[in-house]
Amino acid sequence: MKKWVYLFGEVAEAEKYTGSWEGVRALLGGKGAGLLDMTRAGVPVPPGFTVTTEACNEFRKTGKFPAGMWDQVLTAMKSVEKQTGKKFGDANNPLLVSCRSGAKFSMPGMMNTILNIGLNDEVAEGMIKLTNNPRFVWDLYRRLIEMFGTTVFNLDDEVFEHPLAEYKERKGYKVDTDMTAEDWKELVSTYKDVFKRHVGFDFPQDVYKQLELATKAVFESWNGKRAIAYRNKEGISHDLGTAVNIVTMVFGNMGNDSGTGVAFTRNPSTGEQEMMGDYLLNAQGEDVVAGIRNADPIEHLQSQMPKVYKQFMDISNKLEKHYKDMQDVEFTIERGKLWMLQTRNGKRTAKSAVKIAVDLANEGLITKEEAILRVTPENVDALLHPQFDAEAMMNAEKDGTFLAKGVNASPGAAVGQVYFDADTAEKMAKEDKQDTIMVRPFTKPDDVHGMIASKGVLTSEGGATSHAAVVARQFGIPCVVGASAIKINLERRVMTVGETVVKEGEWISVDGTTGKVFVGKMPMTSPSLEQQTELLTLLKWADDICARKDIRVAPVKGYPTRGLQVWANADYPKDARRARSYGAVGIGLCRTEHMFFEPERLPIVQRMILSHTSEERTAALDELLPYQRKDFDGLFEAMDGYPVIIRLIDPPLHEFMPDEEKLLEEVITMRVKGESDGLADKETLLNAIRGMHESNPMMGLRGVRLSIAMPEIVEMQVRAIFEAAADCTLRSIVVRPEVMIPLTGTVKELEWIQPRLERIASAVMGEKKGKFDYKFGTMIEIPRAAVTAAEIAQHAEFFSFGTNDLTQMTYGYSRDDAERNFLITYQEQGILEKNPFQTLDRNGVGKLMDWAIAEGRKTRPNLEVGICGEHGGDPSSIEWCHLIGNNYVSCSPFRVPIARLAAAHSALRHRAQGKVTTPKKKVLAKIPKTRSKVTQKSAKKKFAKVK
Ligand code: ADP
Ligand code: MG
Ligand code: MG
Repeated sequence: MKKWVYLFGEVAEAEKYTGSWEGVRALLGGKGAGLLDMTRAGVPVPPGFTVTTEACNEFRKTGKFPAGMWDQVLTAMKSVEKQTGKKFGDANNPLLVSCRSGAKFSMPGMMNTILNIGLNDEVAEGMIKLTNNPRFVWDLYRRLIEMFGTTVFNLDDEVFEHPLAEYKERKGYKVDTDMTAEDWKELVSTYKDVFKRHVGFDFPQDVYKQLELATKAVFESWNGKRAIAYRNKEGISHDLGTAVNIVTMVFGNMGNDSGTGVAFTRNPSTGEQEMMGDYLLNAQGEDVVAGIRNADPIEHLQSQMPKVYKQFMDISNKLEKHYKDMQDVEFTIERGKLWMLQTRNGKRTAKSAVKIAVDLANEGLITKEEAILRVTPENVDALLHPQFDAEAMMNAEKDGTFLAKGVNASPGAAVGQVYFDADTAEKMAKEDKQDTIMVRPFTKPDDVHGMIASKGVLTSEGGATSHAAVVARQFGIPCVVGASAIKINLERRVMTVGETVVKEGEWISVDGTTGKVFVGKMPMTSPSLEQQTELLTLLKWADDICARKDIRVAPVKGYPTRGLQVWANADYPKDARRARSYGAVGIGLCRTEHMFFEPERLPIVQRMILSHTSEERTAALDELLPYQRKDFDGLFEAMDGYPVIIRLIDPPLHEFMPDEEKLLEEVITMRVKGESDGLADKETLLNAIRGMHESNPMMGLRGVRLSIAMPEIVEMQVRAIFEAAADCTLRSIVVRPEVMIPLTGTVKELEWIQPRLERIASAVMGEKKGKFDYKFGTMIEIPRAAVTAAEIAQHAEFFSFGTNDLTQMTYGYSRDDAERNFLITYQEQGILEKNPFQTLDRNGVGKLMDWAIAEGRKTRPNLEVGICGEHGGDPSSIEWCHLIGNNYVSCSPFRVPIARLAAAHSALRHRAQGKVTTPKKKVLAKIPKTRSKVTQKSAKKKFAKVK
């Protein structure tokens, strides 16, 4: 006979059956596993037993308890009766129990729990005699009927709350504690009537019937709406099912020597090492959380019940040590005796996640590696974004600025003025330069412009996958959806929550991280990385993991054996300095074209473009050269010791020219007005621009194609790069320039352009007598280049995946058009799971990358491979780069810390098993075409120091 029921004393049996603690948690749920585990450790837990998730899953399939289960429940009840010396349903010595849900992964408050099962009219009378406390007993009984009605028969809370409120009003009572024994007794009979009226039969007096119905209701609550929504959001499987825990009731409402409370072993909002909790004397179960009365901070218990307090602190500390994590515990004190009712790993903010992980590692409870894995890249992201002040948020509920809570659909904090439609929100944002928050019941595709223009979005309907949520996440706009307490009146242009009215144009604050909404302007803090000591420590540990020589076996010849490095995309020295301060160890992409746009340079650039002869063009370029040299000089200096990849000019030239339409307008106006001064020049310019027109510039004359059409531009750029590098070397700066040729599609392009550029490089080094290491390589952003990577690598010494273009060309989407017109529909319809421009498409684009690396390294085993698209800062894409053998990822400076953690996660999750040996130097040295490499001794030494 299969075992469906485990007594709290049978943890060994559960371990034997499942073979692991993970298995026990899956079988008995987190709550059940915790109760059994605490019982084993000698912690005072009321006797009880757990019905397995397997039983729940059988029940969900067939609608019936599996064969043998109920008999096992009855036997277990007998055992509990024996342990407690009480009897279920016996008026002279009654046992009451709770029937509690508990799944493998904690889903706080999402499923059902019923307390005080085992009470009926007869038992109530008996208990009154026994306890001499009628108020207590009638209070229990009314709670049971209420919980039974609402959870087992899905009645609205209202049907019970309403008569209670009415009763209190009639009597002039303010709080529940004003209610006397007689009052509760009368309410019990009212509740029984309510129950019968709504359910159709009397409240069950048979205590075993109560237990059976409650057990079924808990099983069924696995598929409750709230529970399903929660699992969807948290990515918890819908197949796991919930266990049922039957626990002897202990009573916190037996007078002022009794109480109930909840506590965290560390501060869940800051991570500080201090117990944080609340308790209430003379109260039961959820009273503390429900906020019926103001709870007392746990420290007060020390003076009220010093012995219990000490015991509680000891147990909590022990639990934390045992589970090696911050615990969230529930306890009840019955007549001076402490009982523990639950322990679980506590939910926490990003800030406390980092602090707790680092502290636990420093305390020796967990390893550094475990600490790294306990913090998510999203945690790091949250810590670097502006956030609402934690204390102000905590106070909001007290000071009345808290408005409502909805689903935290897209993280981040936003403060702005409320507008109830997209057009007004956009207009106020654009024309009046206001910070706006767009508020709607829900959003549709034609609301997107208003959302993008706003600082935040709030809806009263919809869930985490609603249109508003998807769009907001897509554009990184803080967003709360489904705040159903908010009533929006689109005609009167107001929203209301109870008494609070917010009119159009008034300020609110939306916290997409917690789902909370506040009236007025909530103060914000903008955290800096330097001040976050624990985060810095954690990231240092993450870097150490990635730097290990034995952490990875990459797919091609096992190279590289280290984890990923994190470089940054930076165009200017100030960005480079920021990137370094965030921990970047290289520049993976410096876009040179921005530099052409600067006001004093643009006219020269335009003159260069309009040149008719190579001489004219060279003359203009000669003027640009000193500027570019200075740009690169600054960058090398900022990145002293680290590699800097400079991409040669990439965009089509028309981007540097005045806007064609605007120019046409000017010309027409001049003609109409008969102005002739300068008209001819404008006409010539207009014709020139028209001549440059392309029907699809993205696929036209740009990148390496442009360099082949007009090599003078890139020749100037390479000269500037090498002159700057040589100058820096003379100033004892260690330079490692890498010249990147964009948009290569065939190796013939490299064969044409690269030797010319390399000749310039050697020439400059000869002229300047500065020697340093350098590379020439290419971007892989055209599918053909990826496919023919073996050929490309004959010339390219490095690859850098430009995954934005590579994704565009692999899917055949233009990103702007796709994001504007159909990507959201595609996601809503499930055609695309994610936006492929944000999360790398492993199956298509990712396969091309994988192939390109494998082929490239067949030709050049030590080929350096990176990624410089936006994906370089996305955790899932970073993991893919780790798996296929990238040397580094490069992302925006702000995402560097996130990428450092994600790189370490990848290394740890896929860590090499056994001994890893670096491939033989000889193998790596076998490269097709060797250029004589010059390495400065001193430079090498200095670089070793920097690393
Ligand atoms: P949740 O999973 O939502 O936390 P629980 O099953 O833990 O629900 O129970 C809800 C509340 O009832 C908690 O405060 C818990 O401590 C209390 N409770 C549950 N069982 C008992 C019991 N046997 N005796 C006293 N209080 C209990
Ligand atoms: Mg609980
Ligand atoms: Mg590109």
